[in-house]
Amino acid sequence: MRHALAPDRKYSSAGAPPQPKRRASAPPAAVFSNQSALEAIQRKSDCAYGGECADCKKETESFYGDLDEGIEKQTPGKEEKPADKPKDEKKPEKPKETKAPSCTDICDRAYQDDTLNSGGGGVVCDGATKCACVFDVPPLTRGQCPDFDKVVLNHEQKHVTENNSECDPKGGLHRAKVKDESKLVDAECRHRKASIKELDEAIPKQKGDCKTGMKSVRDLLKTWVDANC
Ligand SMILES: [Zn+2]
Repeated sequence: MRHALAPDRKYSSAGAPPQPKRRASAPPAAVFSNQSALEAIQRKSDCAYGGECADCKKETESFYGDLDEGIEKQTPGKEEKPADKPKDEKKPEKPKETKAPSCTDICDRAYQDDTLNSGGGGVVCDGATKCACVFDVPPLTRGQCPDFDKVVLNHEQKHVTENNSECDPKGGLHRAKVKDESKLVDAECRHRKASIKELDEAIPKQKGDCKTGMKSVRDLLKTWVDANC
């Protein structure tokens, strides 16, 4: 399976130099080194404020998987009906799912899906069930450092709680869509600051790859906070 520091698949690390506003057409593949993840976040910040951005529609990666939720909302042809949310198991067009899915199950399936497993974590839905999911945050992978996964989960759980995103009750497995994009960056600022605090408490207790990996993620978060908050 995949291991940290073996960025073989889409998570090719390093590579792209810092480009605050790289435009379009980069394959979604290479958006995952710390540097490039930061770029992705910055692009999404632009999107969150700018409304229309073809670049952001294409690239759904972000660091902690949140700002990208706002991007999908810009995709035309999807009507949201917040007032009409059936129960979890009401998914007639998905015969393979007969029971209400748990978040463990939903996140595990999302983790296996390259189109959903991005951004380090995120709010993922299956039908109307909304879940906070932990994905890989290079150089770390999900499950590698439990204390780190807790920090990510805590972060994503805040997105679930703040309820600025919504599921498509008729949809299958999908990323939640942001309701109010103008709130995205402020929320990210709050949550990332909190994540930094949690990491500062956790890092001294770590060893080896967890320690160095968490430190590098922490520094990336700090860089983003300093630039955007
Ligand atoms: Zn977030």
